[in-house]
Amino acid sequence: MIKELNIDKNIILITIDCLRADHLHCMGYKKNITPNIDKMAKNGILFTNAFSNAPYTPYSIPSFIVSRIPPIDKEIKETIGLVLKNNGYYTAAFNPNAIIFSDTFEGCNISNGFDVYDMMLNYRMRFSLIIGCIRQRMMKYLNSSFKSNTPIFKIIYNMYSKIIRKFPNILYPKEHLIIPNAESINTEAISWIKNQKGNFFLWLHYMDVHEPYAPRNYNNQNELLYLITKYRDFPNMITEKEREILINLYDLEILYVDNQINNLIEKLKEENCLKNSIIIITSDHGEEFGEHGAFGHGGSFKAHLYDECIHVPLIIYGLEKKGMVIERQVQLLDLSPTICEILNIPIPHIYLGKSLFNDSDGGIIVNSEFDIAYRTKNYKLIIRKTDGENNELYDLKNDPNEFINIYFNNKILKNLESDMIKLLNNYNKKIKLGITRSIKNIILNR
Ligand SMILES: [Zn+2]
Repeated sequence: MIKELNIDKNIILITIDCLRADHLHCMGYKKNITPNIDKMAKNGILFTNAFSNAPYTPYSIPSFIVSRIPPIDKEIKETIGLVLKNNGYYTAAFNPNAIIFSDTFEGCNISNGFDVYDMMLNYRMRFSLIIGCIRQRMMKYLNSSFKSNTPIFKIIYNMYSKIIRKFPNILYPKEHLIIPNAESINTEAISWIKNQKGNFFLWLHYMDVHEPYAPRNYNNQNELLYLITKYRDFPNMITEKEREILINLYDLEILYVDNQINNLIEKLKEENCLKNSIIIITSDHGEEFGEHGAFGHGGSFKAHLYDECIHVPLIIYGLEKKGMVIERQVQLLDLSPTICEILNIPIPHIYLGKSLFNDSDGGIIVNSEFDIAYRTKNYKLIIRKTDGENNELYDLKNDPNEFINIYFNNKILKNLESDMIKLLNNYNKKIKLGITRSIKNIILNR
């Protein structure tokens, strides 16, 4: 429980799309690419075991914005934006992730309650994103239709490879040049702040760490373009050396964002509003680099629920508590209730999460379209929703990389399954959760 009175404070939520927790230096990463985020962690509260409740944006963001297990019911309106607006806060979101498209068609209304919800994307950018999406779907189909050792695949791939080596510009998706970067998001945000007459809730969503990883001043542009294209079109042909370069590019984007966070802090100081702001830094999900045979977070492959996909950074800066490290397992479902608690606002009854400062150490649910996971401090159970087969169980203490499937261990399995059902039942008592019955069926019919 937070025993501070922070009613007169602003909340600034910074979400960095695709940022893995283990690429923060303060989380043990070998390269020091996050000096400014680390400084905030050192002077704030660092949660070292924070997990997203979904492995990709359209499930993850709505989930923490309304504190519910995804997918989110269209009827749900109580975003944290709306809750704060109803309590007198000015609210704004600057979020260039096209999630709002899927949001409009199938999810909850994440923009609900924001005085300003700015995607910062003009029609040309939106059109380009749609084309990119169609192309990705086509390549996914091509990759899944032909096995990479068949002659036809080899012919197509060799031809393709030669062409993009020679003309890296030819198929290149220009997204990294059109999606607003952290710097332009900061500029918009600061000019919005200048016009506010009272306390505010500001949500900034940076897209720079999302693929295509394309640091703007990278010296080998041809290599960059070749890799961006290959990553999109033939990710399963990426070599070990290319994987290393991709990780380096990803890290350079993290370094850029870290630098931009420092710029934002400096601007907040100039505007005289750093002292009365609480800044929360997190990510919507992680990113895979071939650890379990896939890259990214579901684009060309099926989204996984391994820790590299769901372990996210979580830092709260600006509370009286400083230099605090919380190792307990927590989840992003608890983010919106925590903001309420910090500002002394009642937590809406439809929120499934609790405050992050609640000491409970229970298991969490992570959900995707095809799989559902139950993660405790020591184990992770992954259940295939489609057929209930090829399920997985990992001993996270002895096998933190999740390589050894111990699904045959009946004693552990039974306990986890019953705890998982208990948790889903508890959620169900509060709200009608569509997934519970299907999960129960899968477990009972095993
Ligand atoms: Zn995302």
